Amino acid sequence: MLERIRIVLIGTSHPGNIGGVARAMHNMGLADLALVAPRCEVITQDSISRASGADHLLHQAKVHATLEDAVADCTLAVGASARSRTLPWPMLSPRELADRLPTECQAADARVALVFGREDSGLTNAELQRCHAHVHIPTNADFSSLNLAAAVQVLAYECRMAWLNQAYGQADATATVPSDDLATHAELERYFEHLERTLIGIDFHDPDQPRQLMARLRRLYLRARPERMEMNILRGILSATEKAANIKPPKP
Ligand code: SAH
Repeated sequence: MLERIRIVLIGTSHPGNIGGVARAMHNMGLADLALVAPRCEVITQDSISRASGADHLLHQAKVHATLEDAVADCTLAVGASARSRTLPWPMLSPRELADRLPTECQAADARVALVFGREDSGLTNAELQRCHAHVHIPTNADFSSLNLAAAVQVLAYECRMAWLNQAYGQADATATVPSDDLATHAELERYFEHLERTLIGIDFHDPDQPRQLMARLRRLYLRARPERMEMNILRGILSATEKAANIKPPKP
């Protein structure tokens, strides 16, 4: 999905911003950068230093004379705008845009362009009207214009979250845990038995008056989606607690 997303910059005037965009893209796993009529050199000391190691994106970037050329093969073009325009256009929030990406990127020849404007004057109405939809990053209404590379960073992050969500079914930190490292249902059940036994042994838990204690603890641990290694640490703590409290382990 990320390979099918192109970042298009129109009329950029600061090499440092182009470098900052390359860095933001590479951080989030995007690689397709197109520059429309840049108003500055692309490869400079400034752009290379702001790219911080992502300068291969600058060397690979395609330069086009017009927006039409840059998005000719795109199946969806979305223009990023800091201001609302007089003619209302389909508007998306960054999250709504991200929600559409998995479907939009499904076909093998699908290409999505995210189009960004000039530092001083943004995108013209004519350029915005070449886009299927507009995206606005919610900001302070009195100070709505982000730095170009910062705007790219926000949308690139949303693209990555949508991709993570699609690849792992959840868009949070646990999405990076491969499923064979997660504790299995059986391992969790063994842990819960051990936990209950220990809590009874140290007189914290009275099985005759359970008050949903075990259910609440289950909910806590299941929410954390522990890895096998973490489960082993927790079981080790229980064994040490039993030993310190002179609780005999059950006969096998
Ligand atoms: N001064 C310009 C904004 C330039 S910022 C103006 O008033 O339009 C450079 C580019 O970053 C913008 O053209 C837009 O593509 C993007 N950008 C900046 N802030 C944004 C925001 N809040 N939402 C969406 N895109 C934004």
